[in-house]
Amino acid sequence: MKCALCGRKMKIRSPFCPSCSSRLLRSPISACEKCHSALSGRRRLCEQCRGRKNYFDRFYNLGYYAKGMGEIIRKVKFREERKLALGLGRMMGKILKRENREYNYIIPIPMSPKRFHERGFNQAYEIAKGVAKTMGVKLRADLLEKRDTIAFEQLNRVQRRREVKKAFKSTKKIGKAKGASILLVDDVFTTGTTVNAVAHLLKTGGALIVDAGVIAR
Ligand SMILES: [Zn+2]
Ligand SMILES: [Zn+2]
Repeated sequence: MKCALCGRKMKIRSPFCPSCSSRLLRSPISACEKCHSALSGRRRLCEQCRGRKNYFDRFYNLGYYAKGMGEIIRKVKFREERKLALGLGRMMGKILKRENREYNYIIPIPMSPKRFHERGFNQAYEIAKGVAKTMGVKLRADLLEKRDTIAFEQLNRVQRRREVKKAFKSTKKIGKAKGASILLVDDVFTTGTTVNAVAHLLKTGGALIVDAGVIAR
């Protein structure tokens, strides 16, 4: 296998070589207790988390967007890199196993049908598949749906929160979430608006635990 970042050949079955791994996965000295964003000073929560109610329980991220992870995140959006997404999911699954997290379902953040048709795949689904395989947990993509919407990137924070809320909905099968422990999977966590909106839907549907796992935050 080749390291997805530096291209070095390696014998281990992992997306990254040991040196890239330790560089990419390093945590900041001080981070938000809820979403792990880097903090300066002695605060417990970041500004985003202080300003909203978070519906997810625990949060896991493999790395941080800034530290070379940007390229990896761009890569996993391509269909040709499905193996990389799967490998990253496996890495996440190993971390969660070490943390003794137990789930009934692994659920990827859904993509709208139109977008899926254009792109041919959902990277969150591929990552979730890796997590589910490693943890031996059922992968479920039938409890939630995403409508076609305008690109959230162009909106300000308030508009974005409103649009994101409208964008996701639960399906007829949402009853399966009742009493369940769920891990939500996405590629990135920028402001957390998406993850939070989806976690809210699952909690409304009766989910007991909703954790979130992303490649980079
Ligand atoms: Zn490397
Ligand atoms: Zn936070």
